[in-house]
Amino acid sequence: MKIAILTSGGDSAGMNAAVRAIVKCGILKGCEMWIVREGYEGLVRGNDDGGEKAGQKVNDEAEKLVEAELREKRNEITQEPDKNLLHNLRFGDGELLRDGTSEYVGGRTLKGRYIVRVGWDDVRGWFSEGGTLIGTARCAAFRTREGRAAAALNLIKEGIDALVVCGGDGSLTGADLFRSEWPSLIQDLHSQKLITSAQLEAHAHLKLVGLVGSIDNDMSMTDMTIGAPTALQRICEAIDNINSTAYSHSRAFVLEVMGRDCGWLALMAGIAGGADFTFIPEKPPTTMPWEDAMCAEIHRHRAVGKRKTIVIVAEGARDRELNPIRAEYIKDILTDRLGLDTRVTTLGHTQRGGRPCALDRILPTLQGVEAVDALLSATPETPTYMIGVQENKITRVPLMDAVKATRAVGQAMNDKEFEKALDLRGPEFME
Ligand code: ADP
Repeated sequence: MKIAILTSGGDSAGMNAAVRAIVKCGILKGCEMWIVREGYEGLVRGNDDGGEKAGQKVNDEAEKLVEAELREKRNEITQEPDKNLLHNLRFGDGELLRDGTSEYVGGRTLKGRYIVRVGWDDVRGWFSEGGTLIGTARCAAFRTREGRAAAALNLIKEGIDALVVCGGDGSLTGADLFRSEWPSLIQDLHSQKLITSAQLEAHAHLKLVGLVGSIDNDMSMTDMTIGAPTALQRICEAIDNINSTAYSHSRAFVLEVMGRDCGWLALMAGIAGGADFTFIPEKPPTTMPWEDAMCAEIHRHRAVGKRKTIVIVAEGARDRELNPIRAEYIKDILTDRLGLDTRVTTLGHTQRGGRPCALDRILPTLQGVEAVDALLSATPETPTYMIGVQENKITRVPLMDAVKATRAVGQAMNDKEFEKALDLRGPEFME
């Protein structure tokens, strides 16, 4: 099987660990591994000249080298190694490793090549790198049928028959659409004489799985998304840093954290950082006016001797009337009503970046292994799976069930039916 991997939508720590695990696991299971640079954009653009052709010369040289090494080592090796496996392990695409490094790691382009074969060495050490080394982008063309037809053609040109997409709910929706449309897309390509009858038959179905890369932990039917634990860690570090100055000056700090529809980061940071008050989109303050409730709570903390005040607000926080609750407004309330010296800190993109924490290496690695297994056992009848984790077990769930449940939560929240929305996330979320 030839498997390609792409990362799409917003970057998140742990995406590289996922790519690494999928590449290595795929190689060990006898697959040929490819990466698509720049998300769906790379899939739509494809390769100027067809990847195999461009890499052929260097591949040939790599083959000769493998042969020479094999000859040399033959005496030491009791069992003949699988030549193809050794080739994959050592060289991957060949071209990537010309100078011993992968060109895209240094941010250099591969001269009009977006779909690139990779080997074991290409992804070595990737588990500890932040962001996504193969690039991500938002791609308007992939939202159109023409764009998806171009993407299908590019995959077929390289002989790729399976795809792993790591991204948020938008990327995964696009992935599911791509797979369901695939048979008609390739029929069109065949009618336009862009692919042969043999290619039409060989690529009758696209095998596809999704991994959830999102710092917000905002996908239903999985307990944790790739990147969320690291983002939480970054927020905790920021709170620790702010705590020392808050304590020294007896100040109040209002921290705005990411989370437009999902308050997981804010809620968990509130617990981990000992916040006085936390605002999340899913559960607006029950006591109205909430300003009174917040001031009473913080006054109580101060009255028993607390020198610092930390308020955490998710960027999508709102009151029961769906009015946004903004950090600057909270600051004004704390200053005017309680006389606190209050500052606002918006953590912004510092939450996204940096080295993945341990869980964001372990989880994508285990999920990457599961993704390869899911592809190897996929049939035209099996649904497109999303690999997740529930109750500490790596899971496969139909991708669109998860996307629909996630959207239902967002919809219900906009309809002011918060409790219904919370029901979908499980009773523990309501406490
Ligand atoms: P995320 O995956 O983080 O939710 P986006 O919603 O921006 O991020 O989606 C990333 C990309 O996925 C888009 O730029 C587009 O190329 C593709 N995509 C998103 N939604 C769809 C869709 N409904 N149909 C086809 N492609 C989509």
